[in-house]
Amino acid sequence: MSEVLDPATGEVVGFVPATSVEEADAAIARADAAFARWRAVAPGERARVLRRFAAVVDAHLEELARLEVRNSGHTIGNARWEAGNVRDVLDYYAGAPERLTGRQIPVPGGLDVTFHEPLGVVGVIVPWNFPMPIAAWGFAPALAAGNTVVLKPAELTPLTALRLAELAREAGVPDDVFTVLPGAGSVVGERFVTHPAVRKVCFTGSTEVGTRIMAGCATQVKRLTLELGGKSANLVFADADLERAAATAPYAVFDNAGQDCCARSRILVQRPVYDRFLELLEPAVRALRVEDPSRDTAEMGPLISAAQRDRVAGYVDGAKIAFTGSRPDGPGFWYAPTVLLAGSTADRHWREEIFGPVVSVLPFDDEADAIRLANDTEYGLSGSVWTRDVGRALRVARAVEAGNLSVNSHSSVRYWTPFGGMKRSGLGRELGPDALHAFTDVKNVFIATEE
Ligand code: NAP
Ligand code: MG
Repeated sequence: MSEVLDPATGEVVGFVPATSVEEADAAIARADAAFARWRAVAPGERARVLRRFAAVVDAHLEELARLEVRNSGHTIGNARWEAGNVRDVLDYYAGAPERLTGRQIPVPGGLDVTFHEPLGVVGVIVPWNFPMPIAAWGFAPALAAGNTVVLKPAELTPLTALRLAELAREAGVPDDVFTVLPGAGSVVGERFVTHPAVRKVCFTGSTEVGTRIMAGCATQVKRLTLELGGKSANLVFADADLERAAATAPYAVFDNAGQDCCARSRILVQRPVYDRFLELLEPAVRALRVEDPSRDTAEMGPLISAAQRDRVAGYVDGAKIAFTGSRPDGPGFWYAPTVLLAGSTADRHWREEIFGPVVSVLPFDDEADAIRLANDTEYGLSGSVWTRDVGRALRVARAVEAGNLSVNSHSSVRYWTPFGGMKRSGLGRELGPDALHAFTDVKNVFIATEE
């Protein structure tokens, strides 16, 4: 049994069993046996089951959101969005089974057709920062394509995934088609990598663990999707709507207390407006409502754990603090939003993913300088460009090496557009119209018509 805490108070909210290797093996074997049945379910019926799953999630939206607030310290507003995202992703991929078409390719002497065949058992490994959405981005398209799924939530945040598995059964998802296995990454997650019946691993988490998983999957040529870390840039040009850029910048990095792989944790400001931008940023950061995440007014909650809080604090020690926001007193893993001035790009807080409410600011000279600085990182997940010049917006968006760019906005995630990283931020794409293909292999069949 492992303890589950409420990060806002530090209190124990429950105990969850830790799945052993033997139990994981048994669950994988059952999922493997269920695969033959699930892939044979008619496309329209598989679609109906997923739509029912979406409807049951919708009927439990508030319950799921409250559970996430307790287990993860997410603000209730965010948690409602996250539960709604699970519903939407299920609904979106419920439209896929009847549309998973292959091609007919002209060939002499016969007919050539392609099929998108499901892979078998898919292992989804989920981090603690967005327990519900990241789980759904894996399991919904995997199930729609005809695979069965075993899913390992993060040890710190297993409660909503376990509840989603119950809701799946209630919705009529057949036994062993979707199984949630709480437990340690080194036990259950590792077993997804080494077990030959798991034909694909869908991993979201740190670049460090993802790199090891990639090496492990290589020994079986196992299919793999990786969504890893980030150190994304928010580029503010002198011609931008500075008021809006400054007013929105805190949300782009402090949302979910900065525990967001897409956090724009490096703000680059063109030199002539650097001082003015900081003047505008300060009141926006101070006004951020950091409070009990169950309150409707909360804009930021606590960090996930004491260890994460200490890790974050380690980056701020000795750094040049421009200003900070507030945090409540008392128990829980709280950390005030913090704005740091980078001395140079060598600063540790400028280079490493902090995964907390800390942002670093640095001035730049011109467009070329901005692009060079933005790309001076091993990561490439997302980024924002603030300018009123359309040509520049497009040039810079094309030049920044990241999978998800936004112009005069900080949006990264829509369930119907592709999401994923370049460089060491990941491999493959989730969401959007093509995600299903990552859960299938193409098969080509030639049928001779010659006598
Ligand atoms: P993590 O330590 O890499 O853990 C992620 C998941 O992998 C957890 O479920 C963990 O289990 C499991 N795991 C750990 N070691 C494993 C192993 N040897 N084999 C298989 N699975 C293993 O990451 P985290 O600390 O939870 O999350 C923070 C990181 O995730 C950040 O770097 C962040 O950028 C990244 N992230 C990326 C995205 C994206 O979409 N690109 C989204 C969210 C988060 P335990 O629970 O036992 O640790
Ligand atoms: Mg970890």
